[in-house]
Amino acid sequence: MGGAADLKIVLLGPPNSGKGTQGSVLSERLGVPCISTGEMLRDAVAAGSPLGMRVKSIMAQGKLVDDGTMSEVVRERLSRLGRGEGFLLDGFPRTLPQAEILAGTPAGQALDAVLLVEVPEAELVRRALSRGREDDREDVVRERLRVYHEKTEPLIGYYEALGLLRRIDGYRPVDRVTGQALSALGISGAEA
Ligand code: AMP
Repeated sequence: MGGAADLKIVLLGPPNSGKGTQGSVLSERLGVPCISTGEMLRDAVAAGSPLGMRVKSIMAQGKLVDDGTMSEVVRERLSRLGRGEGFLLDGFPRTLPQAEILAGTPAGQALDAVLLVEVPEAELVRRALSRGREDDREDVVRERLRVYHEKTEPLIGYYEALGLLRRIDGYRPVDRVTGQALSALGISGAEA
């Protein structure tokens, strides 16, 4: 699969849309690193670093970490990419200010596509609750969805206006979703 290792992609979608799963599958197929901000923050929490201590309770409540902190985290990671190296961004940007921050970096200026993984709301809640254990889990699930609608959904129009948005039907088996994502990226041999 030559020529794909320089693709610069943003994955957009609500919590439990399966974009994390697609991030790791596509990362392997395309040979580009998957940069998951949620994973980076969870690692920081697990390590008990100053960043982790700062974001722990925010994450537990399903709220967003502030744009300034996220900007630092992502800029630092992007600065370690090789020249021209591609990437898949999973979980960033999540707000319009974050999209502007990304647009101000060389990596962000070279975006090839923004893949929006769409799943019906009832299915998102069902998926989340089927995994949940804690008593307050449903509150947190609903809060994450509320925050998605309020802060992240405006990015759909933002990237549509830039001609970068590709809609992917996430309410299907994982490999079908991957197939549609690959064909949306113009990778030949991929079935929709
Ligand atoms: P995720 O694994 O992408 O669902 O992220 C888990 C949690 O990390 C989110 O609910 C937020 O609290 C936090 N987080 C991850 N990425 C971001 C971001 N770009 N901006 C703000 N908070 C984020």
